[in-house]
Amino acid sequence: MTTLHVLAVASEAYPLVKTGGLADVVGALPAALAAHDVQVRTLLPGYPAVLAAIGAAPVVHAYADCFGGAASLRFARVGDLDLAVLDAPHLYARGGGPYADANGRAFGDNALRFAALARAAADLGRGVVGPAAPDIVHAHDWQAALAPAYLHYDGGVRPGTVMTVHNLAFQGRFPGVTLDRLHLPRQAWAIDGVEYHGAIGYLKAGLALADRITTVSPTYAAEIRTPEGGMGLDGLLRHRAQDVRGILNGIDDAVWNPATDPRIPSRFRATQRAGRARNRVALRARMGLAPRVDAPLFGVVSRFSWQKGLDLVLEALPALLRGGGQLAILGSGEAPLEAAFAAAAHAHAGEVAVHLGYDEDLAHLMQAGADAILVPSRFEPCGLTQLCALRYGALPVVARVGGLADTVIDANHAALAAGVATGFQFAPVTLAEFTRTLDRVLALWADRPRWRRMQARAMASDVGWQHAAASYAGLYRELVRR
Ligand code: ADP
Repeated sequence: MTTLHVLAVASEAYPLVKTGGLADVVGALPAALAAHDVQVRTLLPGYPAVLAAIGAAPVVHAYADCFGGAASLRFARVGDLDLAVLDAPHLYARGGGPYADANGRAFGDNALRFAALARAAADLGRGVVGPAAPDIVHAHDWQAALAPAYLHYDGGVRPGTVMTVHNLAFQGRFPGVTLDRLHLPRQAWAIDGVEYHGAIGYLKAGLALADRITTVSPTYAAEIRTPEGGMGLDGLLRHRAQDVRGILNGIDDAVWNPATDPRIPSRFRATQRAGRARNRVALRARMGLAPRVDAPLFGVVSRFSWQKGLDLVLEALPALLRGGGQLAILGSGEAPLEAAFAAAAHAHAGEVAVHLGYDEDLAHLMQAGADAILVPSRFEPCGLTQLCALRYGALPVVARVGGLADTVIDANHAALAAGVATGFQFAPVTLAEFTRTLDRVLALWADRPRWRRMQARAMASDVGWQHAAASYAGLYRELVRR
């Protein structure tokens, strides 16, 4: 097998910059692909945190004018990642997050910030800057989605292109007048180009022009081809159905390993779970929950957004408390949800606790100490929280959508009898079904030996990257043979 060279392009990569699951995927896939003789270099924007991590990395190319200012491409190795970093101070050297300022307002020049990233990807992809051209350019989400477009319109020999959708809700739409500033030819303004309902659609362009499209679970790959799940892009995705694949995400099983995890007070494994009980005690103490050892402890680790269905958790709270449960919440996001959870914690002190913010250590403790993790998403491309929960023996309670449907085996009678259940699913995503499912969870909790058997089964779930890496490697080789 010859070594395959891939340029991955993304706006986030764990551990350098992360706002969600995208970062986890981009950060973990290169190491998993190495086992398949695929070498990945990952192109990232030069955010302050990324530049700090690469130090005085060598410049491989200097741009005199990169969308309004001087910039350079610098190569570095950080941990498992071979990086190419677009160091463009006029675009990325600023406070706030990757996409918005400290007040959550999207940066006004995001169209240019991510056009520049894609342009650099295309230049590296064609080998006109930097070392020899890669075999494949793999664009992740809308921030990278103009890369297949630039490669397409540049003409000439180009690498194969893959467009991965981590969440179709984020599409990168900008006013049509932006086109003049993107250095794309006029013919790109077309229904099979970047034009999207009178505007410019970055993700739309990537979906139209990449050789292959992947998304992060088989069920989501089917859902996005329907009017209900397609968010306006289902027609295009149906048109390209032959080229769409669903490849299930994994989690980094070195970072998420309860037997070695340095972030939790007590380590444990499926066959030896005494440490888990200690983490449960620690989690209650950390969150200020009453030490009711027999109460089932429910956890939430999530962005607070409509997608995640957390309003259902608030509505189901009376039922959860009546059933004797306690609830610990970690997350941040939409202000009304933050306020509502804070109010619930205040009203039910000792039984409901919330930590507003982003906290990796606490996220690990939640997985290591909660009895069940709630993921009532309205849609979920893959979802990583439930994978972490499986690995740590916190039984996931999930909506039967997207990747949640593909990764959790519901504790129905048949699955329980066969000893294969790993969690709970509910559908449709309504309060009535969610509450009914919480009742099922509480009933199973009452049968502690059975709960523990299910916990051991959940912890044995295969949630690593091996399958996904083999699928991506196969897809890349298919494109190279074309
Ligand atoms: P999404 O990418 O839509 O936010 P995923 O489930 O795919 O959802 O990935 C979320 C990731 O972010 C998981 O690794 C989860 O543990 C983590 N996470 C979410 N919220 C927080 C938080 N407040 N603190 C720490 N980690 C969080």
